[in-house]
Amino acid sequence: MHETYFRRLVDNNHLVHAYAFTGINTAEKEKTTDYLLALLACQNKTSEGEACGECDICHRIREGNFPDVLYVEPDGRSVRVDQIRELKQWVATTPVETTFKLAVIQQAELMNTSASNALLTVLEEPVDHVYMILWVNNQANLLPTIQSRVQMVSFDEGDYKQKQQLFVEQGYSSAHAFVLSHLPTENVGLLTATYPPGDFDHWLRDYHYYYQLLVQGEMQSFVTVETHLKKHLKPVPVSLLGIDYLLFINYHLLLRVTSDSNAETPSMYESFFNNLIKHKNPSISLLLDINQYLIQAKQYIQANVSPQLALEQLTINICK
Ligand SMILES: [Zn+2]
Repeated sequence: MHETYFRRLVDNNHLVHAYAFTGINTAEKEKTTDYLLALLACQNKTSEGEACGECDICHRIREGNFPDVLYVEPDGRSVRVDQIRELKQWVATTPVETTFKLAVIQQAELMNTSASNALLTVLEEPVDHVYMILWVNNQANLLPTIQSRVQMVSFDEGDYKQKQQLFVEQGYSSAHAFVLSHLPTENVGLLTATYPPGDFDHWLRDYHYYYQLLVQGEMQSFVTVETHLKKHLKPVPVSLLGIDYLLFINYHLLLRVTSDSNAETPSMYESFFNNLIKHKNPSISLLLDINQYLIQAKQYIQANVSPQLALEQLTINICK
């Protein structure tokens, strides 16, 4: 679906240096990346500007045997800072076969803070012939500092507004529909089955309460996991959506704190954020820590740690 878009950009030399392909459709991200790579590399393009698919370079791209592309894969559960340093060295060398280099970071949300910061130094000094693509499931999982330096290309089905409308038609308020439409699609059906329109409010309120205590650094938030969140932590995919939601709020608060304006703040969070800022004035580094520990909690849960334990550990890390 993005192929015409990229062909036009390449035709007109309008490709920017860094893209984030967002959404859960990994196959589509892969396909578009290969398409773009062939488009840049093929020396024998058709009159429509498509890669020929038949030359030596096109063949070797298909076989995964092409030297001017680098794929960075997570090492275990994270993308480490030394992997980004290697990437940095790689992009500094001259292309072997073509006139460009393309680096792809798979699951860029698994970069820890130091890896993100190392990548930032690469993004801040773009090199003419070097392109980067970050694959990320959820835009909210990328640090705002990185987001502001990459062009987002969404691989989510439909757009948010359309999804929001569907939830409104099911009886959710527009604020609740807004939240649901921004959570990863795959498990939202499970969440709305568990929390129909009248109940969804409880889910939101409990997570807001917990997040507020977290930002205020209050150890009381530890107890809140048991008293408020525990009932929302089953089944596991619903607990993961809870953490995705915390990431979503945290992302918007980070944007708010880093931009000094509330222009981008969804209206449902305005007074919530104003109160947090008035009473606590959260630092950027605190919010970045929260971001990192939330992603870590998700990884633990995916590795079969109990959601309650993962959240308690996160609380200790933030509030200790
Ligand atoms: Zn070709």
